Amino acid sequence: MAFVENSINPYDVALQQFNRAAANLREIDDNILNYMRYPRREFTVNFPVRMDDGSTKMFTGYRVHHSTVLGPSKGGIRYDMHVSMDEVRALAMWMSWKCSLVGLPYGGAKGGVIVDPRVISVGEKERLTRRYASELIPLISPHSDVPAPDMGTDGQTMAWIMDTYSMTMGYSVPAIVTGKPLMIGGSEGRKQATGRGVVTVMMEAMRRAGITDFGKVRVAVQGFGNVGSHAAYYAHENGFKVVALTDIHGGIYNANGLHIPSVMEHQTIYGTIVGFPGADSITNAELLEIECDVLVPAALENQITGHNANNIKAKFIIEGANGPTTPEADDILNDKGVLVVPDILANAGGVIVSYFEWVQDLQAFFWTEDEVFRKMDPFLTRAYETVTRTAEERGIDMRTAAQVTAIKRVADALKTRGIYP
Ligand code: GLU
Repeated sequence: MAFVENSINPYDVALQQFNRAAANLREIDDNILNYMRYPRREFTVNFPVRMDDGSTKMFTGYRVHHSTVLGPSKGGIRYDMHVSMDEVRALAMWMSWKCSLVGLPYGGAKGGVIVDPRVISVGEKERLTRRYASELIPLISPHSDVPAPDMGTDGQTMAWIMDTYSMTMGYSVPAIVTGKPLMIGGSEGRKQATGRGVVTVMMEAMRRAGITDFGKVRVAVQGFGNVGSHAAYYAHENGFKVVALTDIHGGIYNANGLHIPSVMEHQTIYGTIVGFPGADSITNAELLEIECDVLVPAALENQITGHNANNIKAKFIIEGANGPTTPEADDILNDKGVLVVPDILANAGGVIVSYFEWVQDLQAFFWTEDEVFRKMDPFLTRAYETVTRTAEERGIDMRTAAQVTAIKRVADALKTRGIYP
């Protein structure tokens, strides 16, 4: 695979981050903190799928509910060859902190299936999704756990899950998943929400740094999937100079800026951004170290590590992906004075609009795209303000401040609810 490969365990990273936050939360009982280190429940399923050639293949999938303290657990489903229980655990824990940080009434969950979604046919993907969904039925419902898209899954995948669940119940249950197509109860803006939120957060970082001329701000985006492509699009639309992009096949660079709508068209036609006319070729590793002002890692975990953090030229990192930076890299970047806006803040636009979708489904009353984005931005800017204030008050970096804020909210709720029985 073309993104940076390494063997760092994401769950170790999530726990190290948690421990850093916990060290700054002396006011919380150690036993409560310890409780939050554990996922509430973990589910592994091995299931058969009939393949197009008539054979039957076994697949392994997971779903982890990290926390249900603040409400139903929420989090995406990932289809990728690198999915593992530890990766799903880490992603579920990050969802708990993300939802808590931005003030959603949700706990955190994540799911995944070990499969390369690019090599199976649409029919195989549908059968795999429906079987995995039916295996998840005891764990999911609109009031207990609400899945959404993540890497390798999309609105169509959510539609199959919604249909499988609804057929089993005997009536339509749109609120069972978010990120659905519009005609079956999806929300306006959900598809663009994560990338658009990344840019809302980017502009907030610029505003606080006193930078107003976005035309001089060079942006590099790693990953051109749902998050990276929309982040690049909205950055371009807001006047930033997007100079470098990559996808799984490679990347493109133009010091004068890339015209993102044309890059998107190129990707639709050729299935990759590689070969976009008028740009130089770069690799994913090169993109991370390229001359730019803002770096947006929007691919996957562990891209910025102890090996390359020192070579990063950007002054701002806005994390579109979950867990793209390791704790070792965080230390190096903090020493260098790079402002890292952490994943649980920077990419929270997606789950915020998922929350709006769920609310609209439960009320069977739908909003315009304008309303969605008008309601989304304040969730992000409020959280940004809280994180900045916490970082200043406690003398800590933004990631630790974001986790401190999020963990404290869950801990306070836990304490108020009490330990059962
Ligand atoms: N998979 C997305 C994330 O990592 C969205 C989750 C959701 O909308 O529930 O935040």
